[in-house]
Amino acid sequence: MATKPKIAICWLGGCGGCDEAVVDLNEAVLQVADAVEFVLWPVAMDFKYHHVEGMKDKEIALSIINGHVRNCDHEEVARLLRQKSQLILAFGACACFGGTPGLANFTTKEDIFNWVYRDAPTVVNPKGNYPQPKCKVDGKELTLPEFYGQVYALSQIIDVDYYLPGCPPPPDLIASAVNAVLAGKLPPRGSTLAPHKALCDTCERNKTKPPRIALKDIKRIHEVEANPDTCFLAQGILCLGPATRSGCGDVCMKINIPCRGCFGPVEGVKDAGSKFISALASMLDVEDERQVRELVDKLDDLAGYLYRFSAPVSTLVRKRV
Ligand code: SF4
Ligand code: SF4
Repeated sequence: MATKPKIAICWLGGCGGCDEAVVDLNEAVLQVADAVEFVLWPVAMDFKYHHVEGMKDKEIALSIINGHVRNCDHEEVARLLRQKSQLILAFGACACFGGTPGLANFTTKEDIFNWVYRDAPTVVNPKGNYPQPKCKVDGKELTLPEFYGQVYALSQIIDVDYYLPGCPPPPDLIASAVNAVLAGKLPPRGSTLAPHKALCDTCERNKTKPPRIALKDIKRIHEVEANPDTCFLAQGILCLGPATRSGCGDVCMKINIPCRGCFGPVEGVKDAGSKFISALASMLDVEDERQVRELVDKLDDLAGYLYRFSAPVSTLVRKRV
């Protein structure tokens, strides 16, 4: 009997939604399970890391890794899977770009610890204890993973072969990525397994976009009641569709929410935020720099909005101290 390709699915830092998205394949998961041998999937099966450590190098055909890297435990698991795998798929916005946890790069590790263990109104910590990588309790040494100074995308820690973005990735793209691996029909290494077009190119609302958008005002979605059929930008509402890769299935559009950029920048673009700023600049109908400043000042946390999913891989990377 031919041996089945070995597959690992692993969750580093993240919310668990990406693991849930694999389960959301429903009965297709059973077909995948029939065609492959799972060797690690902590959320669903009882394998241990030492089982993986005991495998030969490159014995795993594909490791699907979701979540960002924020501590030494994440890094150790990522490096172990890289050593044991022929292919690594960065799965979901956190693994591909740092994801929403990457917004923590706009503050510092010290500020995060001070808030979580000292300043938040619900904290009771009379001794002022902060987590330590090592401490002694009753004569025994306890350890915690070292918390890094910033959030990293997976490719900033190990070599990544393929990327599947989304928060989380949609079932159709997950199924076609796994099928491509099983059939050996993969694009060149380094590819993103999602369409190359921008979301605007596939969006149903695009036909309502006028040839030239001239914005005198910019709003965020919670400030207005948006028309459910018209292009958000044509309504003066921030929508990151011009700078975001398509492939999500327009799930936000369908519930009248503009694009927030979870599929990352379009092909060939490194910095999603500056790409959108340049698109937005061409749509502003303002007279001078002062009016531009007034419009931008109205937008609370613009950096957080533009880099919601991609701060660690952007040109900003993190707050400098
Ligand atoms: S990409 Fe989204 S769904 Fe996946 S782990 Fe990160 S936050 Fe959760
Ligand atoms: S700006 Fe947004 S709503 Fe308008 S066409 Fe692009 S993705 Fe669709």
